[in-house]
Amino acid sequence: MPENADLYLPSCPGLYIHVPFCRKKCRYCTFYSVPSLDAIPDYIEALSREMALYCGSFDSFDTVYLGGGTPSVLSVNAVEEILTNIRKHFNVMPNSEITLEGNPQDLDMPMLTSLRDLGVNRLNIGVQSFSEDILSFLGRRHTADTARRALDNARRAGFTNIGIDLMYGIPGQDIRQWLATLDEALYHGPEHLSCYELTVETTTPLGKQLESGTISLPDEGLQAEFFIKTSELLESSGYVHYEISNFAKDLTLLSRHNLKYWNHTPYLGLGPAAHSFIRNRRWWNHPSISRYIDDLGQGTPPVEAAEHLTPDELKLEALYLGLRTRFGIDLAEFTTAYGEDILSEKKDFIARLVDEGLVVVDRGRLLPTRRGMAVADALSLI
Ligand code: SF4
Repeated sequence: MPENADLYLPSCPGLYIHVPFCRKKCRYCTFYSVPSLDAIPDYIEALSREMALYCGSFDSFDTVYLGGGTPSVLSVNAVEEILTNIRKHFNVMPNSEITLEGNPQDLDMPMLTSLRDLGVNRLNIGVQSFSEDILSFLGRRHTADTARRALDNARRAGFTNIGIDLMYGIPGQDIRQWLATLDEALYHGPEHLSCYELTVETTTPLGKQLESGTISLPDEGLQAEFFIKTSELLESSGYVHYEISNFAKDLTLLSRHNLKYWNHTPYLGLGPAAHSFIRNRRWWNHPSISRYIDDLGQGTPPVEAAEHLTPDELKLEALYLGLRTRFGIDLAEFTTAYGEDILSEKKDFIARLVDEGLVVVDRGRLLPTRRGMAVADALSLI
């Protein structure tokens, strides 16, 4: 447990912009995006209208995250227009974290330099793998060499906060191949690494292959090994394993935006399919670019549905989300917020988890161990 972890827990809301465009769909993708760039001008106009709808209810943000989709398919002018509109409608605090997700294929020197000039101070690059075979299996549109070049260019353009997204548990991948990808990622010295286990939905091309039996996923034992080896290698290389899939070079380099999702800090999500949360209310937009543009053209919020979480639901979520992070749960704060003293009310269950090496109680916090994080979903059944 890092000292003074509370210092890193956010309270100011964050702003997420969903950019629902990709040049082509990857074979495993379940994010909402369309493989065409035609609607970008109408989308930018609709986005500005949506910002205006929330001016009164959200005023300041200290993180802005352009995700997708593939925000790097936007032209520099389009990114500039979006950032200008954000600053026109909201107060973006000084020293805000401004992240843009990018595909290596789009990140050439002129683009990177312009992004820096526009105030983007954090890049999240979707590398996924340094193996050509795996990139082509996943249907990514970049090569390993393109990724290497994009990472070098990002440094040369002056980015000092670079995140790399990687994926493991891919059919046919073994531990040796995965560790080679991790080693190569480490060579580039990223400030942040996200290592996700591939999940395959039946609706995707990979899902269809899985159903037909032409491919198979690694078994549970191998998946657990990917997780443990990743954590061991990155922690021994100096990274903090601060959330199931996330590692930071040090505590000042956690993804400030993503932390908000894990501790119930309010966030506003704009764009098709984007989710928002404040207090006990969560709502999300239609996953349709045409509906989004039409609704906002008529002054209608493009909201598909909303839910109000009961105190019990909020409590369960706080438990579930807290145990996914290295910061765990502040037991006194939890009792104040939800009226439940977990340590005494779930005494036997927690004692068993401690015996099994899945959690520890340290300085007033309930913390998952590395093995505990690997089974965090089960821990939240506390
Ligand atoms: S780049 Fe990302 S959002 Fe676009 S298709 Fe691939 S995985 Fe999906």
